[in-house]
Amino acid sequence: MSRRPVEEQAVRLAEMPPLALYIHIPWCLRKCPYCDFNSHEKRGELPEDDYVAALVADLEASLAKVWGRRIHTIFIGGGTPSLFGPEAIDRLLVAVRTRLPVDPEAEITMEANPGTFEAERFRGYRAAGVNRLSVGVQSFSDAALAAIGRVHGADEARRALDHALSVFPTVNADLMYALPGQSPEEAVADVREAVARGVPHVSAYHLTLEPDTHFHRHPPARPDDDTAADMQEAIEAALGEAGYEHYETSAFARPGQRARHNLNYWTFGDYLGLGAGAHGKISFRDRIVREARIRKPQGYMRAALQADAIDESRELEAAEIPFEFMLNALRLTEGFPVALFERRTGLPITAVERELESAERSGLIARDHLRIRPTERGRRFLNDLLQAFLPSAPRPRPLRAISISRAERPSRP
Ligand code: SF4
Repeated sequence: MSRRPVEEQAVRLAEMPPLALYIHIPWCLRKCPYCDFNSHEKRGELPEDDYVAALVADLEASLAKVWGRRIHTIFIGGGTPSLFGPEAIDRLLVAVRTRLPVDPEAEITMEANPGTFEAERFRGYRAAGVNRLSVGVQSFSDAALAAIGRVHGADEARRALDHALSVFPTVNADLMYALPGQSPEEAVADVREAVARGVPHVSAYHLTLEPDTHFHRHPPARPDDDTAADMQEAIEAALGEAGYEHYETSAFARPGQRARHNLNYWTFGDYLGLGAGAHGKISFRDRIVREARIRKPQGYMRAALQADAIDESRELEAAEIPFEFMLNALRLTEGFPVALFERRTGLPITAVERELESAERSGLIARDHLRIRPTERGRRFLNDLLQAFLPSAPRPRPLRAISISRAERPSRP
């Protein structure tokens, strides 16, 4: 059994992880005060044609990195992708399919905002091949939506969700809790309403104050930590009673309805990220590379046409790969098969034996020779659990600021 320090181990991947495609559309009607995503307020007409052309050029410049590999899921996120018309989305998906092998059963998700809802558009996206819509509901309370600066009201959210459910084979509703002025009863009422409307997948996010956001500079009064924890428990109980599986920190699904694209992040799969500010992770036999595209939309579009959209590309050091894996996989309620660690990281599980032992002693994980999973306590104190896997050596300049409470985040339009 090798106990060499992880920084001295060489990455050797026996197989390539599944590959997903993430496409970022970086505009919104208005910037929400809590949002730290790469989203920019729409001013005037959006350059839909130019942006799609830039995405296609970016894709073409990226093909060599993923040559011969099949795309299993596609996620069009933002920003607010539903600001783009169905024709643009259709052109984009046709361009992808003609350049990359896309699994015929691929999950193709697009994010939509109730504030940009038009019934005809949803049918157009479906005709373009989108088979899963993720609707940024956030709350069914007008007061809560106003408190977090959303551009839509509760009735718009209801209409958008109902229509999405009638058009798409499967739908996610994003909800947020611990909102300014929100009571635990109101947080649970939001969840119950999503259930009652028939949505098969719910993502429930705790409102957090991220650096460089309006709320960070001007924090609103919010429920305290104990109340927020009570809300979280009540939400989990309500969704559990309704038959939803709580399979990831913030994700709940009816059986068979888990988000395949996000599961690929959480199981440390690969993804090619196209679009302004998009991140990607691509594995090779002997290394894992993370890359980030230029963030500003205009700069990205200019550079992508010159096949030069990558702002930063960095090979992960062996010492930081276990943390990156755990950051994602320990979010899963059921944890991960022991063998997956080696398949995805190219490192033996013995590389983190000391850390696993310590986490087990602290009651944060449970394991046998087949599976490692966070305990109830590990899930509640996920940041403490992840701390154990932080590389001890000083890390190279980060490709992105990693917040250990967030990991690979499905976006929240
Ligand atoms: S939260 Fe969503 S809708 Fe609001 S600014 Fe951010 S990406 Fe846009």
